[in-house]
Amino acid sequence: VGLIPLEEAQRRVLGGCAPLHPRAVPLDDALGCVTSVPLMADEAVPPFANTAMDGYAVRASDTADAPVRLRVAGTLAAGADPSTVTVEPGTAVRIMTGAAIPTGADAVVMVERTAAEEDGAAVVIQVPASPGDHVRPAGEDLAPGQEVFPARTRLGAGHLGVLASLGYVNVPVYPRPRVGVLSTGDELVDGPVELRPGQIRDSNRHTLLALVRQTGCEPVDLGLVRDDEGAITAAVEKGAAGCDALVTSGGVSVGDFDYVKAVLDRLGRMQWMQVAIKPAKPLAFGDVRGTPVFGLPGNPVSSMVSFELFARPGLRQLMGFPPDRLLRRPVRGVAGEALRRRPDGKTHFVRVVASPGDDGRYHVRSSGGQASNLLRAMALANALAVLPDGDGVDEGGSVDVLLLT
Ligand code: AMP
Ligand code: MG
Repeated sequence: VGLIPLEEAQRRVLGGCAPLHPRAVPLDDALGCVTSVPLMADEAVPPFANTAMDGYAVRASDTADAPVRLRVAGTLAAGADPSTVTVEPGTAVRIMTGAAIPTGADAVVMVERTAAEEDGAAVVIQVPASPGDHVRPAGEDLAPGQEVFPARTRLGAGHLGVLASLGYVNVPVYPRPRVGVLSTGDELVDGPVELRPGQIRDSNRHTLLALVRQTGCEPVDLGLVRDDEGAITAAVEKGAAGCDALVTSGGVSVGDFDYVKAVLDRLGRMQWMQVAIKPAKPLAFGDVRGTPVFGLPGNPVSSMVSFELFARPGLRQLMGFPPDRLLRRPVRGVAGEALRRRPDGKTHFVRVVASPGDDGRYHVRSSGGQASNLLRAMALANALAVLPDGDGVDEGGSVDVLLLT
């Protein structure tokens, strides 16, 4: 069987993952979503000129000969209507951070540079002010009509705050994909049960649900399904109907009871690939009635690496990320110890701990046993070292690293 290069398999996956239809999503649900159109400002931020300091709003020209004594014409707290007072020549208004600059004033003197008289009716301004001192002009952050964020911006916490400051209640984004996760295998059990002979506990579903969430999608637990055509059919049909993508693990290699294969072939259009990588050589990808399906291998490390190399980029494309932001970009690292392998026509992804060195580069060391069933070494790894076909890399040699965080 011919092995498919990694890049070709990734191309096929991305070819089958179209971005979801954009829609308006409540602001607080949009964290991590990608904008579908440029977002514009309808209002100025800040909406009015206001003070950056607690102090006195003054006419700067009144303070040229400081120290000067000014009559206090009133007080403005943040939120107060500024039309209640005016700063006439020879007067000042007590003002708190965030309050609007009253008519007549063009500067603020911070309270530390003033001395109020005991009854509060007058204040001595101790230093001269220049026009604009401690005044935050209207529209300083954003002007009406301005583009705030371009299309295809991933919304973080700060973005949501900016949009809230503009009065956005809903945001036009590519919606968060609902991603169904399914484990298959007669050997698997879940929950607080005692293992019978031949049984193991289902770990993949929990890992994959977490990876789906980490990717920014909404995980949907489709459960643990027996190696039984009817049960797998029911789970896949339910998932395809209610989710934007499906991730299965197990049953995609060449074992005797790999019914996932039969079911997916019957319900959907699948490609069964053998990718030139280790771990995670087998990959099934296709769609069931338009819903992309990632059939990942069952070995726990393989399913994680396969998710990382295929499902994550595909899901990011559903999420509206642009083409140059689907795959992780490798960083150049240095082998902190020899990373050995044998030539086999495949690219190896070695579970490593990458730590920043004094030379500014990541130094990588194996995180433990590299067999595809040894999940702990994968859990301890924060990166995958990419070893091209060959003998590996000597200690001190440079190596490409995919940082997983
Ligand atoms: P399969 O791909 O179904 O042939 O499974 C390959 C290996 O992965 C076998 O050792 C399975 O027992 C194991 N495996 C499959 N699914 C899971 C799972 N959900 N959790 C843990 N191990 C699994
Ligand atoms: Mg199986």
